[in-house]
Amino acid sequence: MTFAATVLTLYPDMFPGPLGASIAGRALNERKWSLDTVQIRDFATDKHRTVDDTPAGGGAGMVLKPDILAAACDSVGYDRPMLAMTPRGAPLTQERVRALAAGPGVSILCGRFEGFDERLFDARPIEQVSIGDYVLSGGEMGALVLLDACIRLLPGVMGAPSSGVEESFESGLLEYPQYTRPVEWEGRTIPEVLRSGDHARIAAWRTHQAQTDTRLRRPDLWERHEGARVQSPSGARRQKDE
Ligand code: SAH
Repeated sequence: MTFAATVLTLYPDMFPGPLGASIAGRALNERKWSLDTVQIRDFATDKHRTVDDTPAGGGAGMVLKPDILAAACDSVGYDRPMLAMTPRGAPLTQERVRALAAGPGVSILCGRFEGFDERLFDARPIEQVSIGDYVLSGGEMGALVLLDACIRLLPGVMGAPSSGVEESFESGLLEYPQYTRPVEWEGRTIPEVLRSGDHARIAAWRTHQAQTDTRLRRPDLWERHEGARVQSPSGARRQKDE
């Protein structure tokens, strides 16, 4: 089955862009995924092809009009999940990416200017997604990020089927640090355990590193990971100091 991506945008020329290169580009040529773009402006109804208007209540910038956006979304339909890129959305996670990659595809609505008229989200089944706590000038880069994360998980896209299983976030932790030859570089050596050939010791070292690095670098992830661990079988969360 081909993973079908549709991007609704005012800048269709930005696609496939970087997704035409490397792993995603090869997979696109091999039809492991497909890409369509929809020009939002094609759904404007006046002779100036207007898609935006000034914000109600005042303020800087312009807001994308709900009638135009809805017409563009309706033309694609809602058989596949329809996602809108917005800093107000739920932060994208590897878990959500994995679920999307396992499905038939995704449609992605890209904002510009000050974003979308909020009524769109009451009126249509659209999931609001953010790619992080910073502001982009448009949703297109977010769409590229989301698609890249999905595409590398599609069957037959990545070299080794097992790579990906142990990666950052898959276990709720950051990945352990990686090394490769030369064994000694600028006076620094690869940790001895990784050269020992002792698979049990290597696995234990990697688990320990993943836990330590997550705790120090990403206390938020560590907290969630530990929270999940102390959850009782009934699903009720126990106090951690119990
Ligand atoms: N005024 C809005 C930001 C608009 S930025 C606000 O403060 O919430 C213009 C467009 O860029 C948005 O409509 C959205 O599509 C995209 N964008 C910006 N930051 C983003 C982010 N962190 N994640 C996903 N999309 C983002």
